[in-house]
Amino acid sequence: MTGAAATLETLNAQIVACDRCPRLREHCAEVARVRRRAYADWEYWGKPVPSFGDPAARVLALGLAPGAHGSNRTGRPFTGDGSGDFLFPVLHQAGFASLPAATSRNDGMILKNLWISSVVRCAPPANKPTPQEQRNCAPWLDQEMSLLKNLRVVVCLGRIAFDGLLAHAHRSGKMPARNRLVFAHGAEFTLPTGLIVITSYHPSLQNTNTGKLTRPMFLDIFKRARKLAGLE
Ligand code: SF4
Repeated sequence: MTGAAATLETLNAQIVACDRCPRLREHCAEVARVRRRAYADWEYWGKPVPSFGDPAARVLALGLAPGAHGSNRTGRPFTGDGSGDFLFPVLHQAGFASLPAATSRNDGMILKNLWISSVVRCAPPANKPTPQEQRNCAPWLDQEMSLLKNLRVVVCLGRIAFDGLLAHAHRSGKMPARNRLVFAHGAEFTLPTGLIVITSYHPSLQNTNTGKLTRPMFLDIFKRARKLAGLE
């Protein structure tokens, strides 16, 4: 195991080199080798996806895992797939992102007061990491949370991200293993650490195409995060 990183940049470099989950590493490499026809001329990233954003962020957006042909292709969270196409216009409108669309890690996007990460950093088959793979990846989140010194609000994108954050809080000794916190879209909790958590449906196509998660609903989440983080 690599030693604790001193900066978020060093931590990201360690994450990119991680090989704790052989199944996920093989899957990402295979997707990168075969590629989707629409992206045949892309050189896929194919490695664990580092987090992205403003190291001084007051808000963390926490997702589930990279998409096979999105982040696993572009090398940046929520960049180059349907979830990102839904997320970034909202982040732009809420004042967190410099551009309304994310297309590649060289597109010039700058985040202000926001850090984007996920509980699993390698694209899993069928978007389903195993419980062991989630546990393997958890130490990266622990380190990341300790390095985000200005953090006040976490927006959990989906139930697995929420469970991952609660597990992190438990590991850090600040939450009992059993608690009464229940995931629901738009719910808001304050952890014993003072960190505020807002839960949202994940912006996956199955939620956004069906209207389960609409743009006004999602914008409300990030506007609320801004306000709770003292950014207004
Ligand atoms: S999912 Fe996380 S722990 Fe597993 S190989 Fe990828 S970065 Fe490492």
